[in-house]
Amino acid sequence: GAANGIPAAPAQSASPGAAHGGGALAKTGKIKVGFSMDTLLEERWLKDRDLFKAAVEALGAEVVIMAANGDDAKQISQAETMISQGVDILVIVPHNAEATAAIVKKAHSSGIKVMAYDRLVKNSDVDLYVSFDNEKVGELQAEAITRLVPRGKYVYIGGADTDNNAHLFKQGVFNVLQPLIDRGDIKIAYDQWSKDWTPRSALSNMRDALSANGDRIDALIAANDATAGGAVEALSERGLAGRIPVAGQDAELAAAQRIVEGTQTMTVYKPIKRLADKAAELAVKLAKGESTGADRKVNNGKIEVPSVLLSPIAVDKINIDETIIADGFHAREDVYRNV
Ligand code: BGC
Repeated sequence: GAANGIPAAPAQSASPGAAHGGGALAKTGKIKVGFSMDTLLEERWLKDRDLFKAAVEALGAEVVIMAANGDDAKQISQAETMISQGVDILVIVPHNAEATAAIVKKAHSSGIKVMAYDRLVKNSDVDLYVSFDNEKVGELQAEAITRLVPRGKYVYIGGADTDNNAHLFKQGVFNVLQPLIDRGDIKIAYDQWSKDWTPRSALSNMRDALSANGDRIDALIAANDATAGGAVEALSERGLAGRIPVAGQDAELAAAQRIVEGTQTMTVYKPIKRLADKAAELAVKLAKGESTGADRKVNNGKIEVPSVLLSPIAVDKINIDETIIADGFHAREDVYRNV
């Protein structure tokens, strides 16, 4: 609003969306949503795909879905395909926060609005951002680990440098750690990004971290459960798995199992169904040119993007039953399978 110097209103009214001529809505009366995904190689994105599809269809709209397998050029060309197929709205999970600005431009020149799903598109006029409070994710991780290790040497295994979320997660972690670092209680022994979020990259980072510190580290914060898995493998190689606190994110099944087995301390659960339902509801509204009621603003380097940010939840072995299991995110017998 006016408080931050951003003029109120135009976001919804003067923009394309419902007014564009070539879309499915005009031809068939049915809204067609294009969902451009980075990857389907991680457990969470399969859930996102299935839940988003179900939510869009439950609203009487249809959806086309394409995944780019981490290839920026491919994600752009898939989006172009969807634009030429006459989608009424494009929803993007960017692999690369900067490169996908080209998609926003192309969509807008065809009168199609764009929503950033989970990950922000930077330096673009993207119409809406629907995600979790990602800085809070990092804060929850660091709060849980500093409670256990108030002093000592910390390793931070980051996510993909190309993903805006990786920067927000890290920001959140350091919001909590920095005062303790300044006081001299905590020392950062190692801090690296993991290319494309792969467990493989995290494994090699963690090996480096251990070698550089003669195996003497006291705590590990990994940006997500995939990277935590790679890092825990490196700890296992040195006989250190279960000996130091480890944080991850996503409540992946493998991480939930590590939590009950004792090789991971906590994860951050982001209820994907809430995200998918919210995104589907607002995608349809955007396509119809209706107001989304987005109550937050996130700066993407170019504009203050109207945003909806859902709350993440810290999960450890104490509350795992009442959170991810109670929610049906994982079945109890799967989580406890190895214990
Ligand atoms: C998501 C995380 C996910 C990571 C890797 C991030 O943008 O917010 O939930 O673990 O990407 O796919």
